Amino acid sequence: MTIDLHSHSDRSDGALSPTGLVQRAGQRGVSVLALTDHDTLDGLEAAARAARDCGIRLITGVEISVTWGGRTLHVVGLGVDPSDPILRAGLAKVRSGRMQRARAISARLRAIGIDGTMDAALALAANPEMVSRTHFARHLVASGHCKDMGSAFRRYLGDGKPAHVRHSWAGLAEAIQWIVGAGGVAVLAHPGRYGLRRARQRALFEEFRSLGGLAVEVVTGSHSADQTQLAAQLATECGLLASCGSDFHSAEESWLDIGQLAPLPAPCMPLWQDGRFAALQ
Ligand code: AMP
Ligand code: MN
Ligand code: MN
Ligand code: MN
Repeated sequence: MTIDLHSHSDRSDGALSPTGLVQRAGQRGVSVLALTDHDTLDGLEAAARAARDCGIRLITGVEISVTWGGRTLHVVGLGVDPSDPILRAGLAKVRSGRMQRARAISARLRAIGIDGTMDAALALAANPEMVSRTHFARHLVASGHCKDMGSAFRRYLGDGKPAHVRHSWAGLAEAIQWIVGAGGVAVLAHPGRYGLRRARQRALFEEFRSLGGLAVEVVTGSHSADQTQLAAQLATECGLLASCGSDFHSAEESWLDIGQLAPLPAPCMPLWQDGRFAALQ
């Protein structure tokens, strides 16, 4: 059984429509797929319809942007009720600053000689409310300013780079509460991506668990082999379950294709074998 618990559609910063994403998953032999768009539940209805047609089990999901200790973290919610009013209101609040932030990013780019990026980024965002750094990066690549997405983040959009704009997202505790309150389980996304040393990562895992988090992503498209090993070890020590997801955004840009996942390393406890992950029981 191929399980992929992290993916994006064009309702946030993925390239495919929710239907196109589910169809691609079906073609690639995925049997359980979570659609986890950033800060929105918009794509879930269309994805569920497509999943019924393809014989895929769709897990309702979301990836919430969180500010923790001055850093941005991502928390995936799985099995959430998309009609839950508190979750919906929380996500609307998280989304609300994106347009203003995009204007600030565009102004920073203009200040270093790159004009017209706001309109260009918006034109690339199928859902303007969800305009993201990914859309700016795609434009910087398409217009020849950068050779690829990685270089757009390294040169301009990444933390501390000239067009980086600090932003305050949800709190960690509230994001977990929204997810759990909507009947879901909270999973810390790609912990290797936050630039945390071992002790600090362990402290994050402990805090995440004490706030009601259930699992961490051990296998994800953006982890090196060492990051996977460390996440597996710390998750086990901290009593957290392990999840896996490609974090697929598009065929050209993603580290892994949808469903292209290595098995969880020992001694991880898979999230999907635990009774608390009600969506899969
Ligand atoms: P935002 O939520 O607007 O800050 O955009 C964050 C998104 O940028 C992430 O969800 C990734 O999809 C994308 N991203 C971040 N870093 C990189 C990178 N180095 N290469 C490609 N995409 C990235
Ligand atoms: Mn993304
Ligand atoms: Mn993420
Ligand atoms: Mn993601």
